[in-house]
Amino acid sequence: MGKQEKSGHLVLVMVPFQGHITPMLQLATILHSKGFSITIVHPELNFPNPSAHPDFTFISIPDKLTEPQLSDNDVAGVMRSLNNNCAAPLKQCLNKILHSHGHIAAIIYDTLMFCAQSIAHDLRLPGMTLRTSSATTLLFFTIFPQLDDRDFISTIESPELQALQLQRFRSLLSQNPTKAMVEMRATFTNAVISSSAIIVNSMEFLEQEALSKVKIFFPAPIFTIGPLHKLAPTIRGSLLTEDDKCISWLNKQAPESVIYVSFGSLASIDKEELIEAAWGLANSERPFLWVVRPGMVGGSSEWIELLPNGFQESVGQRACIVQWAPQKEVLAHAAVGGFWSHCGWNSTMESICEGLPMLCKPFFGDQLLNTSYICNVWKIGLELHELERGNVERTIKRLMVDMEGKVFRKRALDLKKDAALCLMKNGSSSCSLNDLTNHISLSSV
Ligand code: UDP
Repeated sequence: MGKQEKSGHLVLVMVPFQGHITPMLQLATILHSKGFSITIVHPELNFPNPSAHPDFTFISIPDKLTEPQLSDNDVAGVMRSLNNNCAAPLKQCLNKILHSHGHIAAIIYDTLMFCAQSIAHDLRLPGMTLRTSSATTLLFFTIFPQLDDRDFISTIESPELQALQLQRFRSLLSQNPTKAMVEMRATFTNAVISSSAIIVNSMEFLEQEALSKVKIFFPAPIFTIGPLHKLAPTIRGSLLTEDDKCISWLNKQAPESVIYVSFGSLASIDKEELIEAAWGLANSERPFLWVVRPGMVGGSSEWIELLPNGFQESVGQRACIVQWAPQKEVLAHAAVGGFWSHCGWNSTMESICEGLPMLCKPFFGDQLLNTSYICNVWKIGLELHELERGNVERTIKRLMVDMEGKVFRKRALDLKKDAALCLMKNGSSSCSLNDLTNHISLSSV
C-alpha cells in the first residue's frame, strides 16, 4: 500500500499543457482531501515539480514528442502522437501499479489522453474523464464522428444556445478537417462515450441548458464540480515562474483601475499585433499589467526587446510587464478592474469567480465558444474583433470607463455570487463532488 489510503487509490493521467496540468492537480488535491491516495502519471514533456506536491506519487512515461512536431501548430497530430506513443508505457505502468497496490479504484484521465479509456477497459478498471473545457464543448463531440451527415446543433431551439451561435462553431468545425482531426475526434468521442464518469470544471448554472442536452448524449453521469481552483486554492501548477513583483505594483494602484492582460500559455501573436496592442494599451491611459510570455510573439525567444521604441518611456510606471503572473492572485486583487483575455476556459472561470468584466480576444479552439458565452450569454464582456491600436484603445475605455462597462461589472459580480453559492454546503458543485466520490467508491467494488 502507498501513502494514506482510506477511500482507495486513484491514478490520474495528465496531458502536458498548462491549461490541463493545473486543473488535474486541483482535482488530485480535492480527491486526496476526500481520502483517496493519488498517483499521477504524466508524459515527460512539461510536468509539475513533484516536490511541490508531496502527497502524490508521480510517474513519468515517455511521450517521444519531437520539437518540430510541437512547433508545427498541428494540434490533432500532436494529440494523436501523444496517445499513440503513451499507450504502451501507460498500460505497462498501470499493470505495475496494480501489481504493487493490488487495486486501483479508478483511472481519471484528461479527455485529450483518450488512450487511457481503452486501457482502463482492458484492465477492467473504471475509466473516468476530466474535461478541462466547458461542458458545452461536449455538444460538439456528438457531431464529430458523423460530421457530415448529422445536424444535431441546428435542431436546438433553446434561446440561450442560439445566442451562443453554436451553428457558427459547427460550421467552423466542419471546414476541411484533416484526416488526423477526423480520426482524433472519433476516438476521443468514443472514449467519452465509454467512460464511467465525466468530470467537468464548470458550474451547473453557467451552462445549464447545454448540460441538459449533453446529458442526453452521454450515458455516463456528468459531475460539474468547478470552480476547481476555489476548491484547491493552494495549488500553484505554473510551469513558468510566477513573477510576484506585479503584486507590489498592483498594491500601489487605485481600486478597479488596472486592466490585466494575458493570452494564456499557448496563444501567440505576431510582431505587428504586439505593436498595436502596446500602443492601444498606452493610449487607453489606464494602468495595465501585461503578461508577455517568452515565445508569445511569433515564437521568438526575445521578450520586451520586441516592444516598440518609445513605448516604455511613454507608459512609465503606469505599466507593469511580466513574463508570467500569479494570475489567480492578480484577478482577486482590488486594483484590477478588467481582464483582457484570450478566453481559455481556466482564465474564464478564474475571472468569473472574481467578478471581473472581460475584454475577449480569442485565438483558437474553445476560446471562441467561451467568448460567445462571455459576450452573448452571460453578457459580462466585449469582443475585440480587430487588434488595431485605435480599436484597442476604444474598447478598453468602453470596458473600464464607460457606463457600458459598469453594467458588465454588475453582471460579473452577480456571477461571482452565484459561483460562491455553488461551493456552499448544499451548492451544486459541492453536491456533485459528493456524488462523484460516492460514484468512485461504488464503481470500484
Ligand atoms: N496563468 C498564470 N499566469 C499567467 C498566465 C496564465 O498563472 O501569467 C494560468 C491561468 O491562471 C490559467 C492557465 O494559466 O489557470 C491558462 O489556462 P487557460 O485555460 O486560460 O488557457 P491556455 O493556457 O490553456 O490557453
